[in-house]
Amino acid sequence: MSDFLLEISKNPSARNLVKTLRLPIPLPAALRRAKGAWEERPLFDQKVAVALSGDAAIASAVATALTRAGANPLVAVGDLAPFAAPGEAWGRPAGKLDLAAAEEVTVDALVFDAAGLTDLGALHRLYDFFHPLVGRLRSSGRAIVIGRPLSSRPSVEAAAVAAALEGFTRSLGKEIGKRGATAQLLYVAEGAEDRLEGPLRFLLSPHSAFVSGQSLTVTATAKAVGEPRFVRPLEGKVALVTGAARGIGEATARRLAEEGAHVVCLDRPADDGLVSSVARSIHGSVLLADISEADAPETIARALKVKHDGVDVVVHNAGVTRDKTIARMKPEAWDQAIEINLGAVVRITRALLDGNVLRDGGRVVCLSSVAGIAGNLGQTNYAASKAGIIGFVEALAPRLAARGITVNAVAPGFIETRLTAAIPLVIREAARRLSSLGQGGLPVDVAEAITFLASPGAAGVDGTILRVCGGALVGR
Ligand code: NAD
Repeated sequence: MSDFLLEISKNPSARNLVKTLRLPIPLPAALRRAKGAWEERPLFDQKVAVALSGDAAIASAVATALTRAGANPLVAVGDLAPFAAPGEAWGRPAGKLDLAAAEEVTVDALVFDAAGLTDLGALHRLYDFFHPLVGRLRSSGRAIVIGRPLSSRPSVEAAAVAAALEGFTRSLGKEIGKRGATAQLLYVAEGAEDRLEGPLRFLLSPHSAFVSGQSLTVTATAKAVGEPRFVRPLEGKVALVTGAARGIGEATARRLAEEGAHVVCLDRPADDGLVSSVARSIHGSVLLADISEADAPETIARALKVKHDGVDVVVHNAGVTRDKTIARMKPEAWDQAIEINLGAVVRITRALLDGNVLRDGGRVVCLSSVAGIAGNLGQTNYAASKAGIIGFVEALAPRLAARGITVNAVAPGFIETRLTAAIPLVIREAARRLSSLGQGGLPVDVAEAITFLASPGAAGVDGTILRVCGGALVGR
């Protein structure tokens, strides 16, 4: 299913014609997506403008993450000192950036550390940094704001400052989205600074092309199990992906395999041909099951235990829509959406935990949806199931943190799959455009976010709902 406006936008002559004739057609920018697996230096030679706020632990974490990833930091506000040692270690010495001469540079990313800001007057520093630099950000560039969680702030005023960062970042995402650029906020808890690197690498890289306007909290709550690895991070791990025959599940199975995992691809017996061909092409295994059947949890748990001695990554992706207004909905449509999207997730996870199949340091990633956050006409059943997933994730995560197991969900917005191809044209077109990036996402965009959450470097992200929606207008 092709996106007509995006196709026009990719053609330089057509793009120029729209511009010259001043046609009121909002052409979305073609997003820069990653090609292939994670790299040692994903930001190689990229210019990253940085503002620091005097929080030593954050400055050191940012300096290490940027230089290790191969970026050339340009410090516009704050001291160069935190960059000295890591800059030398990774061969990326930092330079100074004069904001008064900002028009002379083009930057790939903007990183604003707001962790040390506690009084309302200091919010002006956001303006001082972003005002001259936002126009210097290249297309598909990245903006990241880093703060401390509201709950840890020393005063009411400081909490207000921390909260202000969220409104700022979401609005910035909407402003730069037309250029394919994204903006995110990372709240880092005290003591979790060494877990900032994974999220920062992901959000600064093209692997997060369709994630925008998000705020993630990085904590040290989940026990650390092993060292984070940024190249082939899933080497030696076993991953289960439900609904792997097509769409987001297929893309996820492929990405997890690319990062080193042995992927067990599950789908319905009726999809044997499709799911087997996916599994074959990634050297994975096939597991045929209808997850809504009563014996499915036991069958899945046993297969993973017997054939693989356990599982490290579980992606609860299989899902269905059975759309109708509640007034017209048949009871089977209600039951199927709730059972497959939520009931099966709860029961399979329970079986994996009860049977001790999910290993310590494991990762559970569920598929929620923006519809579960914002609600959607004709989707009472679907939205209930996807909102239920949010409750499930938030309640389960703290219960498994001591074993180093994290539980998160991704909430896709409009993604181009057969699920959304079934939406009537006018609604489909509106859903595509009502986001900061002005287009639908691809299955691989969701797969990238799942892969990040499945990786050891995401240990700091737990009990979180990460939207992959291009900064959709609806919802929080
Ligand atoms: P899809 O229909 O393309 O693929 C879903 C897969 O799940 C299919 O292969 C199907 O056979 C499998 N499946 C369904 N019921 C099953 C069952 N009972 N047992 C085993 N396998 C079963 O859908 P998609 O668009 O790739 O969606 C994947 C997930 O992402 C779903 O949970 C969906 O709700 C969620 N999601 C999708 C979008 C989107 O825009 N496409 C948006 C938000 C959330």
